[in-house]
Amino acid sequence: MERVDVCVVGGGIAGLSAAYELHRLGVAFRLFEATDHLGGVILTESLDGFTIDGGPDALLAQKPAAIELCRELGLGDRLQPTLEPRTAYILKQGRLHPLPEASVLGIPTRLAPFARTGLFSAWAKLRFGLDLALPPCRLPPSGDESIGAFFRRRFGPEAVDYLAEPLLATIHAGDVDRLSMRALFPRLLEAEQAGGSLIQTFRRRRTPAPPDGMFRSLPGGLAELTAALVATLPTERVSRNARVETVDQGADAPFIVRTADSVCSASAVILAAPAPVAAGLLGPRNERLAALCREIPHASTATVALTYPRDAVTHPLRGSGFVVPRVEPDVSIIAATWVSSKWPGRAPADQVLLRAFIGGARDPEVLDRTPDDTALTQLAHTDLARILGIAVAPSLARVYRWMGRSPQHEVGHLDRLDAIERRLEETPGLFLTGSSFRSVGIPDCVRDGRATARRAVERTPGAAAAGESEG
Ligand SMILES: Cc1cc2nc3c(=O)[nH]c(=O)nc-3n(C[C@H](O)[C@H](O)[C@H](O)COP(=O)(O)OP(=O)(O)OC[C@H]3O[C@@H](n4cnc5c(N)ncnc54)[C@H](O)[C@@H]3O)c2cc1C
Repeated sequence: MERVDVCVVGGGIAGLSAAYELHRLGVAFRLFEATDHLGGVILTESLDGFTIDGGPDALLAQKPAAIELCRELGLGDRLQPTLEPRTAYILKQGRLHPLPEASVLGIPTRLAPFARTGLFSAWAKLRFGLDLALPPCRLPPSGDESIGAFFRRRFGPEAVDYLAEPLLATIHAGDVDRLSMRALFPRLLEAEQAGGSLIQTFRRRRTPAPPDGMFRSLPGGLAELTAALVATLPTERVSRNARVETVDQGADAPFIVRTADSVCSASAVILAAPAPVAAGLLGPRNERLAALCREIPHASTATVALTYPRDAVTHPLRGSGFVVPRVEPDVSIIAATWVSSKWPGRAPADQVLLRAFIGGARDPEVLDRTPDDTALTQLAHTDLARILGIAVAPSLARVYRWMGRSPQHEVGHLDRLDAIERRLEETPGLFLTGSSFRSVGIPDCVRDGRATARRAVERTPGAAAAGESEG
């Protein structure tokens, strides 16, 4: 049986970041990944001159962990900002309306662009203004509420329908009336508690938009990051097509990790797989912990990448894309990115690359109802053709299905995580990381994956000695 200090289960960005940190500290580790693909939902394909991200495509610069990691890996010079204009659009009654300029998470900080927008009725604009007079609300003892509840009471119902739901819930593939403010947008809750009016607070704090925008990517797509991470790891320490089936606790070595054809003993185990998988791996000794992990819902989405000749698209595509409010009838997609307008070099000059998103908490059954990729492509194409004025069939289509890969950080998520952490205390050497838990997006997964690796080393005597001598 192989013996290592730390075993990492899952080769998504969280598991790879943990393994990278362990290797940097000189700790003996093994990483098991169930599939033959390292990177999890980060996946980029190069086809016919197009660079297509099947999953995530952007790193939020405000949370620096992923960008710092790129720099550490020698990718600093390759980081690229989004192209201008960076306008995002919202669909209303079949028309695309630009999100008013100078807004913070959709909340207006300047009157003129907000007064001009056709996105809201006159009544809704007045109702936004009530925010200036409303005192902070007394939150329930949990200190949490849904995104929908928060926006409804501060800005009124249209702010939920045309702002909070399509913008803030859709990026998490979630239900606006279930997703947690405290877990996902704590800054807004804090701003309200500190000053009441969010419009006033954000007007006061207004800093000019960063000249390079808020997001970064790499010319080869985000798989450049995971490929560079993997390249730092010794190949013999990383097992692909190695689905972990059980994690038991043995007598002399605390953990025994089994795949179909290997057994590994480890002083510590980092589970970096989605929470339902982690729940299934936790043995009977950790039944309560497993139950808490099972309580975290996960939604499914698909990304449909479509390409067209530039001159076949009527819309000028001057911006990054659009979101579709759930109140808009007869639209199957929930959002679309104009990839070739958002990032440089993703498509030949005379072509456009678009990505449509389908599913999420809004339509949880659509992917099961549409098992055939051709039918899913047709759904996406029909909507894009109508909204953007496209007269031809796509020249290339790729479908990426992400079943159960969008964790839903719903109201109470942070309390559940506290309960999970208390349970973890009872099993020293066992750690959980990844997007199901404390991480929202890639930068958090990098930060938490690396921090979890350091905690595993501190808590594991053999590994700590290696970390001290080599770190
Ligand atoms: C379509 C989409 C678009 C997104 N866009 C963005 C974006 O633009 N920017 C951003 O910051 N975030 C984005 N996100 C979120 C971000 O991609 C995720 O938060 C992050 O990549 C999750 O990484 P992870 O390592 O936690 O999980 P995953 O990527 O899900 O990796 C988990 C890994 O565990 C493996 N595994 C599962 N079971 C086992 C087992 N039994 N044994 C061994 N291995 C196992 C899986 O095969 C997988 O490789 C997006 C997510 C999706 C789905």
